[in-house]
Amino acid sequence: MQFNVAQLLREPIGASRDYDIDDDIALEEERHRLTGRVELVRTDRGILVQAELTTPAQYECSRCLAPVTGEVRLRLDEEYLPTSAPLTGLPVNEADEPEALLIDEGHTLDLAEAVRQAWLLAEPMKPLCHADCAGLCAVCGNNRNTDPCTCETIDPRWAALEPLRNALRDS
Ligand SMILES: [Zn+2]
Ligand SMILES: [Zn+2]
Repeated sequence: MQFNVAQLLREPIGASRDYDIDDDIALEEERHRLTGRVELVRTDRGILVQAELTTPAQYECSRCLAPVTGEVRLRLDEEYLPTSAPLTGLPVNEADEPEALLIDEGHTLDLAEAVRQAWLLAEPMKPLCHADCAGLCAVCGNNRNTDPCTCETIDPRWAALEPLRNALRDS
């Protein structure tokens, strides 16, 4: 996920490059395949990166714990600043903006860190195997999608009244 932008930095504002991406990238110590498109646009200060990328992902269903294959979609919209001015080679920006994403001295723009951060933010919090997953039975632990059980589940708000209901039924 590295792009040499030496040429693009010499071009006028608005000049752009498109790239089709099909790449392996290390995220959290695993290799992930990343596909999609990256557009680099010359701005007055540096290079604007706009990317739409997807990577396959394995999850556990949050209700029944079945493995779920899905994909994570990543959107990047980040401006990278040169560490040196393209024409003069003089250092720019570094002191002013310590948080800025930087293009290195060799004019290499590395997307790895921005992709990693977008990936962390994009993790879904509650993946489901399918929208109406019945989940695991709270009484016997069966997977109610594949192994329906006959456990009666009582709403805990009514459980306290259960002895009274039984007494009425018996009388
Ligand atoms: Zn499920
Ligand atoms: Zn059950």
